[in-house]
Amino acid sequence: MLYLILGPSGVGKSVQVKKLRENHPDFVFPKSVSTRKMRPGESQGNPYFFISDEEFDQHIAAEDFLEYAVVHESARYGTLKQPIQEAVEQDKVVIKELDIQGLKKVWETIAAGKADFLEGKLASIFLLPPSEEVLINRIVSRSEIKERELNQRLESARREVEQAHLCTHQVKVEDEDSIEEVYEKVGKIIVPR
Ligand code: 5GP
Repeated sequence: MLYLILGPSGVGKSVQVKKLRENHPDFVFPKSVSTRKMRPGESQGNPYFFISDEEFDQHIAAEDFLEYAVVHESARYGTLKQPIQEAVEQDKVVIKELDIQGLKKVWETIAAGKADFLEGKLASIFLLPPSEEVLINRIVSRSEIKERELNQRLESARREVEQAHLCTHQVKVEDEDSIEEVYEKVGKIIVPR
């Protein structure tokens, strides 16, 4: 199964994915490819496979992508089918963070008959924030952020939350929930009992 993890910035997606990775060495966490420049502290494959624009174009032409997008009007990011297909065909659990736009692209790819290996093998888990107020606090406390950027992130958070119902599962993150408590809710969906 491919489980896509969605939710607005600040809700705690990456912490949950990190916990899944620590607890489930048998799960597969495919990395995206990106055309953006590597930042200090990053390396090839961490957090992305950094590729050139030409290579990205080649992947598009070869229909290698499950989905891809231009982010922040500059760099391109994409999810390759191949590692996911390989894992799904071996009945492994695959976990990938994505946004609603990305989820819609995945559906389009499946609908076009270009990812048949995902028929009946796709789930999407949306982490719903407790409230906008809590979300603002989390985004602000995480980094020094300018008001304009905060407003942009909030706007995109609102857009995402409005479409949470499109996902196959919703996990409500309560204000008082610890990371472990959220993890338990997510785990109930993913880990077969
Ligand atoms: P950053 O460059 O700061 O690491 O990431 C910028 C944005 O790229 C994030 O919002 C992230 O969600 C998005 N992104 C990363 N990988 C992918 C991907 O495979 N597909 C899509 N559509 N977006 C991605």
